[in-house]
Amino acid sequence: MLTQGHRFVLTSRFTQDCFENTFSCVRSKNPVPTPVEFHHALRIIAVGQFLTTISSGRYQEDHSSFLADFLDTGEPKITPSVRVEQLMAVNRAAAPDLTKTEKCILFHLAGYIVHKIIKFASICEKCKIATEHHDESPSGDNSLLVDLKDFKAGALCRPSQEAFDFIHQIEELFRTKTGSSLMQLPNAVGVLEKKAQALSSRLPSCCGVQQKLVKRFIRLRLRIEAKQIKNDRKNYN
Ligand SMILES: [Zn+2]
Repeated sequence: MLTQGHRFVLTSRFTQDCFENTFSCVRSKNPVPTPVEFHHALRIIAVGQFLTTISSGRYQEDHSSFLADFLDTGEPKITPSVRVEQLMAVNRAAAPDLTKTEKCILFHLAGYIVHKIIKFASICEKCKIATEHHDESPSGDNSLLVDLKDFKAGALCRPSQEAFDFIHQIEELFRTKTGSSLMQLPNAVGVLEKKAQALSSRLPSCCGVQQKLVKRFIRLRLRIEAKQIKNDRKNYN
């Protein structure tokens, strides 16, 4: 090698990891493969190298990039230099105003919560009428998503304007208050609930519908947020 112009050799770069990765993938199906099985597995792995790794894989890919990456037109992957917390901070800094699409999604969520309350909580007729949108009249632009999903007319619940306005207020509160610091608190639900209970609404107070909406919406919303954080971290890793 010295005669061919190499001045030194980095022996630490001699690694069998790629072979071990490959054999591990081969053995994942059958620990003791037959020659034919080995041949098939190797062929699949060789093709797989040009595509992408499975999301649940435990090995880092050997070259960290794939030949077919340029075909990927999806969201750009977050570079490791952007920390999840920073990303969340940027998201939080966005104006709390909801877009039309977000309002439609919120309307759908509100309808789901109202349906649960009417079905499972013992509330009086007056509260039911005040919480759910009843008459046949269209419930505004925000019901676009529900209208689309409602294959059997009337099967999905629509919130009343009062109930939607109240949930809208909680969502705005959620967006301004929820940051990584709040999500790390052991009592994030309690903190948010306390703030949301202080909001005012035009809903009747006799059966505590307002409290019930707060309770259900915040839990549901935190679950959605947690899922989002999980996805962000997955992209970050
Ligand atoms: Zn009532």
